[in-house]
Amino acid sequence: MRFDAPVVPAVLEIDIITIFPGMFRGPFEESIVRRAIDRGLVRVAVNDLRNHVDDRRRTVDDRPYGGGGGMVMMPDPIFRAVRSLRRPSSRVILLSPQGRRFDQETALALSREEHLLLLCGYYEGVDERVRQNLVSDEISIGDFVLTGGSLAAMVIVDAVTRLLPGAVGEPLSVANDSFTSGLLDYPSYTRPPDYEGRTVPEVLLSGDHESIRRWRRKEAFKRTVSRRPDLLRRYNLADDDSELLEQAKEELVLEKEGDD
Ligand code: SAM
Repeated sequence: MRFDAPVVPAVLEIDIITIFPGMFRGPFEESIVRRAIDRGLVRVAVNDLRNHVDDRRRTVDDRPYGGGGGMVMMPDPIFRAVRSLRRPSSRVILLSPQGRRFDQETALALSREEHLLLLCGYYEGVDERVRQNLVSDEISIGDFVLTGGSLAAMVIVDAVTRLLPGAVGEPLSVANDSFTSGLLDYPSYTRPPDYEGRTVPEVLLSGDHESIRRWRRKEAFKRTVSRRPDLLRRYNLADDDSELLEQAKEELVLEKEGDD
């Protein structure tokens, strides 16, 4: 996937619906998400589902029809919460291990929306009528099962927020990120140039920008060929890419021969 010129609304608004709003305190009060909120690039509101319940005990779950273990989140609190928060432009996203797998392309698409409403399930999940009637997308953050959707919502907010123009100090670093450029990122080094005999590749100290560009691209190809060849199959080669890809493959063969 290529990193296109960003087309974004003035401010992305994100509403999260959860039964554990306290979980969000740390992650949204630090680092890039905090800075993006402070700069007015994104507005994030964490809404307690229990505020949408009439019952004095603030119950949000009940036993599943048909028996079986665990509890299921009842439809009424969720319908009320979503109806009070959604707008015509909202993407109502249910976090679910059964959803479409979240990736950088989805993060980029979501960063261009006006309003995201992230619905965090707990227990055995939510009543099926929620999924059928309220939700525009179901997203999974990977093939594993979390206790609840809050951590998944944090992952999505983080990945989406860092794509908003102005959220990350150096836009090029986002454009070169793994998956955004379509390749895995090249290796990075910082000071000192010699750490206990392990040295930084000389080209990076040369000041020759064109040689550095070519080295980094070749290294990105090496990483992608050896770790994620599936990404390369979808990648459109440009400029001197074919030559650098060939070099990358040759170096990988030589390195493998050296290891054997
Ligand atoms: N019984 C459900 C199933 O097997 O599909 C799993 C329920 S899980 C214990 C409770 C909640 O955690 C889900 O409703 C969902 O909101 C969230 N969750 C768990 N794993 C997730 C994942 N990989 N991606 C996104 N959300 C997840």
